[in-house]
Amino acid sequence: MTLEEKQREFNVAMQLYTTRTGYKLFGSFISVANVFLQAWLLWRVLPISVGILGQVIAITAAWLIADFVNGLVHLYMDNNDRYDSFYGPLVANFHLHHKTPRYQPKNLALVYFVESGSKVWLVPCLFCLALAAEFGAVSPLLLHILVYAGILSSLAEVSHYLCHTSMSPIALRLGNLGILLSKKRHAVHHMQDNMSYAFLNGLTDPLINLIAARSSRGYKQNTDLHYAMYCTEAESR
Ligand SMILES: [Zn+2]
Ligand SMILES: [Zn+2]
Repeated sequence: MTLEEKQREFNVAMQLYTTRTGYKLFGSFISVANVFLQAWLLWRVLPISVGILGQVIAITAAWLIADFVNGLVHLYMDNNDRYDSFYGPLVANFHLHHKTPRYQPKNLALVYFVESGSKVWLVPCLFCLALAAEFGAVSPLLLHILVYAGILSSLAEVSHYLCHTSMSPIALRLGNLGILLSKKRHAVHHMQDNMSYAFLNGLTDPLINLIAARSSRGYKQNTDLHYAMYCTEAESR
């Protein structure tokens, strides 16, 4: 398929995304499902004691797992060009984070909710975890790790938002400490190719970069070219 044909497919997919309310409703449904399951799992896990050391281990492991897993999903999505599939409009819309990386300033709770709507893969993961928790199929420590990782997967979206949008000293400090994503670390993803996909704090980027180098041809000469003929609403005003 030629680049022009791919660009046409991209524009058709975005036309569907912007005109069919089903896609926006689907995003809202995913947001509600993710936030509901996260809240339910947290309520379920908090009374289970793992001790102070267990909590430290769980939070540290969850932070690294969420950074890594969400980075891998980002790597997969940045290379996905199935615009003609039923989920193609969602894929096309995802790629616009490279075209217009600045977000509209929003309340952080709203960012958490809205951006959770792009995490379709997280819903079945949380649902299976909820079933496992209900049937006692997971050890208390592993349950804590996975529940925290599930919540941090949505927090990663807030971290990415702050990285692009905020000059708050607290956000900058958390970024520089490696707790959240630093502007310097994340700039590599937008300025270079096939690099730095992680976006909770970027600590697992060295590993994801190795996987990307072996599995992906990058986005600069690939999916980033597909939106070249697309005009966002802001650009067409
Ligand atoms: Zn990206
Ligand atoms: Zn970004």
